[in-house]
Amino acid sequence: MQRTDSRRHRLGLYTNQMLRLCLSLCLAVSFALAAEPPDWKKIDEETLKHYQALIRIDSTDPPGNETRVVDYVKTVLDAEGIPYIVAAKDPARANIIARLKGNGSKRPLLIVGHSDTVKVDEKKWIYPPFSATRKDGYIYGRGTIDDKDNLTASLMTLILLKRSGIKLDRDVIFLSEAGEEAATGPGIEYLVEEHWKDIEAEICLAEGGLVTRRNGEIRYALIQTAEKSPNLVRLTAHGPAGHGSRPLRTNAIVHLSRAVETIAMWDPPMRFNDTTRYYFEKLASVSTPEEAARYNSLFDSQKSAAAREYLAQNEPGNYSMLHTSISPNIIRAGYQINVIPSSAEAELDVRALPDEDMPKFLDAIRKQINDPAVDVTLEKRNDRPRTDPSSIHSEAYAALEAANRSVYDTSTIPVMSTGATDMAFLRARGVQCYGIGPMIDEEDAPKGFGAHSDQERLLEEAIYKFVRFNWDVVTNLAASK
Ligand SMILES: [Zn+2]
Repeated sequence: MQRTDSRRHRLGLYTNQMLRLCLSLCLAVSFALAAEPPDWKKIDEETLKHYQALIRIDSTDPPGNETRVVDYVKTVLDAEGIPYIVAAKDPARANIIARLKGNGSKRPLLIVGHSDTVKVDEKKWIYPPFSATRKDGYIYGRGTIDDKDNLTASLMTLILLKRSGIKLDRDVIFLSEAGEEAATGPGIEYLVEEHWKDIEAEICLAEGGLVTRRNGEIRYALIQTAEKSPNLVRLTAHGPAGHGSRPLRTNAIVHLSRAVETIAMWDPPMRFNDTTRYYFEKLASVSTPEEAARYNSLFDSQKSAAAREYLAQNEPGNYSMLHTSISPNIIRAGYQINVIPSSAEAELDVRALPDEDMPKFLDAIRKQINDPAVDVTLEKRNDRPRTDPSSIHSEAYAALEAANRSVYDTSTIPVMSTGATDMAFLRARGVQCYGIGPMIDEEDAPKGFGAHSDQERLLEEAIYKFVRFNWDVVTNLAASK
């Protein structure tokens, strides 16, 4: 809406100038072309072509082979006359970066899609995973919602921007990023270390959000503004070794099992940050009365414990957002059936809130376990850095809210990912990052159509709407006003 008004305003000014100055017809025509709203029907066809082509490229990671995607993107950019650079630590695993220059009055906007996908168990797929089958309003294939949707939408947005000739206040940088799903070495880590000047930006849009539907009705849009950070905590229990025929109450495995159960059942202290407070408040406002009462009671110290227990059992994602979470995922002990081992260890996957003080949290774990036979240590874990949330009071967040209203007629809820994303590397360098995503039915993942499932799909209309959404956000943030 805003854009239409300002366009009319500019058009009016232009017409006057033209009359007064008798500007050439040629200029007027080129302006009119630039100001035309996009022809979405034609664009949808083009979107579908690129989306299907990208899904049909097997970029399973490992091994990745993301250069295959880069080769495709290169042909598209070449056809549009958009300059790019290919950045590759490993020749088979290239990234590609394309930039449309702005006047530099604002710092750049980076739009990202990752080009790799997770593995497939091919025999479990109804439609072959790299077929991009179009059926009953859906597109099926590995990567349809992770992340060839973002890749397609950001690529289309770049193309449309270039063709429109719209003047930009800031550079718009497109990035097809390798190595998101497994080791981040050839992708974001390499880019941040070796190509920082090529991707440095004020704002970044990448995967991590979605627009959610229930019974075919849009409920709300989620924008990822924060994420938890992964830590590895090791429990090591000690005890005397001995003969298996003479059991010991001091057996290291017994100590460890008690510790693991204690820590897994513990409800760590909860606290909100800007994102999660707003998330639960907004979630309550779009939920059923029963759900709303539960979310609201999280703010009531009398009722909060019961609500948390419900979430722990029924909504583990929402429960995890409330505190630093602990999941015992690996246990090692013993080596021979007749030997009581002298040690036993467990690895805990600890997902910390952005502001967590880990040494203090470890002390809290020790207090819970309360057993001098069990050591608690924080180990090195090669993973994404801990970062502060991106602001929900920024120009970018406002643009995302506006686009959710104009494209989906829905409200926006900020969300903190319990998992880690590559945005952590960018947030760690001060980039304000926002996770976005297309419209997805809540019912789809439980049916087995979610990301990383044995069948992945997206509503065809959702990819089209997602391109419009990206276009709205990017032009709002980057076009000269
Ligand atoms: Zn992904």
